Amino acid sequence: MKKIFLVAYCLIAASVFHVKAQINLFSIEDEIKLGQQVAQQVESDPKNKILDEKKYAEAYRHLRRITDAILNSGQVRYHKEFPWQVKIIHNDSILNAFCAPGGYIYVYTGIIKFLDTEDQLAGVMAHEIAHADRRHSTNNLTKMYGIAALTDIVLGKNQNRLTQIAQGLVGLQFSRNHERDADNQSVIYLCNTEYEANGAAGFFEKMLQMRAAEPPAFLSTHPASASRVRDINAAARARNCTAKTSQKNYQAFKNSLPK
Ligand SMILES: [Zn+2]
Repeated sequence: MKKIFLVAYCLIAASVFHVKAQINLFSIEDEIKLGQQVAQQVESDPKNKILDEKKYAEAYRHLRRITDAILNSGQVRYHKEFPWQVKIIHNDSILNAFCAPGGYIYVYTGIIKFLDTEDQLAGVMAHEIAHADRRHSTNNLTKMYGIAALTDIVLGKNQNRLTQIAQGLVGLQFSRNHERDADNQSVIYLCNTEYEANGAAGFFEKMLQMRAAEPPAFLSTHPASASRVRDINAAARARNCTAKTSQKNYQAFKNSLPK
């Protein structure tokens, strides 16, 4: 009797611990559905002019070449499961990129033109891929709303709620921990590619130089800091990553964008 009780207690303790450790109620299907909703809202906003894929096929070829290298690094957990869609938003004044759950990635023409090397852009893409692959948004949502509030969504009963939550995710900033995690993960992905593993550090360095000259309005979703640069460089050194090739395609990529 005592033994059974003890076993039951251990099971409960294990399951409570499990929920705490895992803290994500969304299935992979729900996660993709949520991402589709966010993508729909992003693309239906007239502010976001999505660059035409037929007219700018070369630009999209370059962008996919870079993202495919990261997705094929062997380190992306949901490489097969998520749709990993990449789109370019035509806005030269925004130096940013973002990623909705399930791997719906958006990159502004502004950041592609602003950066100097493909390694830096690969760093930014790897960072965004990490937010999706590490399920940062739905981990957050599970924490924010809790089990009771999410049950209807998890069971597929409340489509409106999913839409509302998707609305809340557009333009939302990640926590410092998630930013740090995405930075670190970008090194892990890039270390297994031809790119410099500390590519994301190059992006933040450029942002820091920029901040010295301009108000920090651009930095909204990815606050640059010297410690981020240091941490990314240290992570790349610790892994002994070496870039395999020097690619010269970046200027061609920039040239393929609208002037
Ligand atoms: Zn981020």
